[in-house]
Amino acid sequence: MLQTTPANIQGATPVGVPPLLQVSGVTLQYKTKQHLVTATYKVSFDVYQSDRFVLLGPSGCGKSTLLKAIGGYMTPTEGSIWLKGAPVTKPGPDRVFVFQEFDQLLPWKTVKQNVVFALTSSRKLRGKAADEKALQYIDKVGLTKFANSYPHTLSGGMKQRVAIARAMAMEPDVLLMDEPFAALDALTRRKMQEELLQLWSDTRFTVLFVTHSIPEATLIGNRILLLSPHPGQVKAELNSDGSDPVSPSTGKKLSDSIHDMLFADRVEEQEVVHHG
Ligand code: ADP
Ligand code: MG
Repeated sequence: MLQTTPANIQGATPVGVPPLLQVSGVTLQYKTKQHLVTATYKVSFDVYQSDRFVLLGPSGCGKSTLLKAIGGYMTPTEGSIWLKGAPVTKPGPDRVFVFQEFDQLLPWKTVKQNVVFALTSSRKLRGKAADEKALQYIDKVGLTKFANSYPHTLSGGMKQRVAIARAMAMEPDVLLMDEPFAALDALTRRKMQEELLQLWSDTRFTVLFVTHSIPEATLIGNRILLLSPHPGQVKAELNSDGSDPVSPSTGKKLSDSIHDMLFADRVEEQEVVHHG
């Protein structure tokens, strides 16, 4: 059974436990020759061990950019990111991505070789230990029979399962999932969401999950950070019971509250592009 910690049910942050990941006042910008594009503006949130933390917001609000920065691929112009009390300055095997695209696997390697390769090239494991770990996680996603198959012989859903197995086999501190099910058909997507929750209840990994889908956010997340349109700013932080840790609960259904917040005082969707 899925459980939320009592702290989450009450809408308070866990007492006495430091956050695993701290994003503090993070502004992220892209500087091109002509423009300075502000992707996120002063975004703050804390992710705790075993959170299923969802970043929810419309396309272009900077969700992928935030994940890139947490992954260590981009430096904030303002604010800071901390993992286990240390500042994030570069990529590392403690943060592993799963993307939306079906082509994130190496096409010339089998399912098993793809997972083994991730383990050995990150120097997490080698030899027999890497083989065993790979097979263990391939089994967790139900693909044992396909361990020696090549990616092009698999369906989109199966490829995503391999990407999830590969990421989980790395046993990262936090799994970064960027709309991992967005390219799947509705039925497969639904199945994969259930499977992810099942995997979570088995191993209690920490996941930061990006989506623009309200139903997906409310299904997957124990906590949801709602971001405003471009540039992304924190609009609200919600617990899965619908309560907001900041403002008191209205007793509304979670998805209704999110709809209201997104559309009631709609932020003007202006391009914040500074010329020069
Ligand atoms: P989301 O993932 O929420 O859809 P992104 O993080 O991809 O949003 O993008 C946030 C904003 O940053 C958008 O306005 C987008 O156009 C801009 N952006 C993303 N990548 C780049 C880039 N490489 N160069 C310039 N602007 C970018
Ligand atoms: Mg994106």
